[in-house]
Amino acid sequence: MDLRSSVPGWPELTTNKSAYPMLQQHTDCDVLIVGAGMSGALISYELASKGFNTVTIEKRTVGAGSTCANTGLLQFCNDKSLTSCIHSFGVEKAVRFYTLCKEAVSKLIAIHESLPFSADLIPRSSLYVASCDEDVQALRTEYEALMKYGFHVEWRDTSKIQSTYGFRKPAAIITHGDAEVNPFAFVHALFETATSKYGLQLYEHTKVSHREEHKDHITIITDKGIQINAKHIVYAMGYEIQEMKKDSNAVIQSTFAIMTEPLSTSLLDQVWQDRNLIWETARPYKYFRTTKDNRIIAGGFDIGLNIEAQRERMLSHTATRLVDEIKQLFPSLGEINAKYSWTGAFGSTHDGLPMIGMHPKFPRSTFIEGYGGNGTVYSSIATDLIPALIETGYHPDAHLFEFDRPRYPTST
Ligand SMILES: Cc1cc2nc3c(=O)[nH]c(=O)nc-3n(C[C@H](O)[C@H](O)[C@H](O)COP(=O)(O)OP(=O)(O)OC[C@H]3O[C@@H](n4cnc5c(N)ncnc54)[C@H](O)[C@@H]3O)c2cc1C
Repeated sequence: MDLRSSVPGWPELTTNKSAYPMLQQHTDCDVLIVGAGMSGALISYELASKGFNTVTIEKRTVGAGSTCANTGLLQFCNDKSLTSCIHSFGVEKAVRFYTLCKEAVSKLIAIHESLPFSADLIPRSSLYVASCDEDVQALRTEYEALMKYGFHVEWRDTSKIQSTYGFRKPAAIITHGDAEVNPFAFVHALFETATSKYGLQLYEHTKVSHREEHKDHITIITDKGIQINAKHIVYAMGYEIQEMKKDSNAVIQSTFAIMTEPLSTSLLDQVWQDRNLIWETARPYKYFRTTKDNRIIAGGFDIGLNIEAQRERMLSHTATRLVDEIKQLFPSLGEINAKYSWTGAFGSTHDGLPMIGMHPKFPRSTFIEGYGGNGTVYSSIATDLIPALIETGYHPDAHLFEFDRPRYPTST
C-alpha cells in the first residue's frame, strides 16, 4: 500500500536518527514485533524495558510509514465525541475510553521526559471550535458531558474567542492535558533507547513474507528467507495489515497536510494564544498547530477514497486551501507559504474505536490498529494492553478494543 506521497518535513527536522541493519541470520525471541512506526516503537520500548527478549523488524526504515505523515497532535478527545460514544456504547464504556485516552497522553508525556533526547513533545491545551452556529448546541452538550465525567475543560463564547484569538467562531471548548510532538523524532528516540538501554534487536529492510504456526511458537520467514521463531508476535503494521487480513470495521481514506517555514516567534506568540492545538466540530475536520521552531502545521480536507494517483493530483490545490485557512484564521501573520505539503492514507473505524488485541484467527498474536485521528494515543493505550495479553491473555479494558466486539452503530 502506498502510505504517503511527497516528503513531510519531519525527517529533515530530526537530527537524532539512526540506521539499523538488515536481519541476516536465524533468530529466536520471546516477542517479535512487525513494524517500526509509532505503534512498533512504543510497544518495542515497553516490552524491551519490561525484560522481554524482543526483536522488531521493519520492511522500510524506522518511521517511514504513516508515522512520517503524522502531524503530531496528541489529544484525549476523539473524532467520535464523548457524547456520541455515550450514545453508542453506554456511559461506562464511553467514559472509560476517554479516561484511557487521557491517561495515554499523560503516559506519552512521561515516556518522553525519560528519553535521553527531545522529540519536541510539548504539553498543550486544545481549542475545539464550533464550525458553524448549528454546531453550538452539540458542542455545549459535549462540554457538559466532559465536565460531568471529570475532564478538565472550559467553555468559550464568541466574544471571549474573539478577544483572545482574534478570530470569530460561534463557541469553543478548551481541553487541557494534550500535547504536540515531532512523531518521527519520537519514534527514533524510543528505538535508540530501547536498543541501547534495554537490548531490543531492531532490523530495517526486513519484511515478513510468510508465517507458520507451531504448537509452542510461530515461525516467521522474511523476504530473504531468514527464520525468526517467536513465542508471540505483535503486528504493528499500520494500515498495511489490511493486506494480510481484512477488518470489516476499518475504513482507509486519504488526508492532506502542510507545514510552513518558521515564522517570527514574537508574531506567532502574539496571535496564537498558548500555542493551542486548534480543531473543529465539522467532519472531516481541519486542524492547526505550531511547532517548537515556530512553523505552522495544518491538515484536513480528507477525501473518502484511498487512491494514490487521485490524492497526489489533488495535493497542490489542497495545500493552497490549507494555507488559505491559516490566513483566514490569522490574517495578521502576513504572507505564509507551505514549505512541505503531503498526502497519505488515513485509517479510521466505522464505530470510532481503535482495534487492539488478540485475533481469533491468529494464535500467539496481538495486533495494534490505532485507526483514527488519535492514532498515537491509541498506540499508547496498546502499551498497557499488549504486555498483559501476552502474559495472561487478559486485560480488563481489552473488551473495548477487541476485534470480535459487538457491532456498534456507525461513528458520527
Ligand atoms: C497526514 C496524516 C496526519 C496524521 N496526524 C495525526 C496526528 O496528528 N495525531 C495522531 O495521533 N495520528 C495522526 N495520524 C495517524 C498516524 O499517522 C497513525 O496513527 C500512525 O502513524 C500509525 O502508526 P503505526 O506504527 O501503526 O503505522 P506506520 O507508521 O505505518 O508503521 C507500520 C510499519 O509497518 C511496516 N510494515 C508493514 N508491513 C510490513 C511487513 N510485512 N514486514 C515488515 N514491516 C512491515 C511499515 O513499513 C511501517 O513502517 C495522521 C496520519 C496522516 C496520514
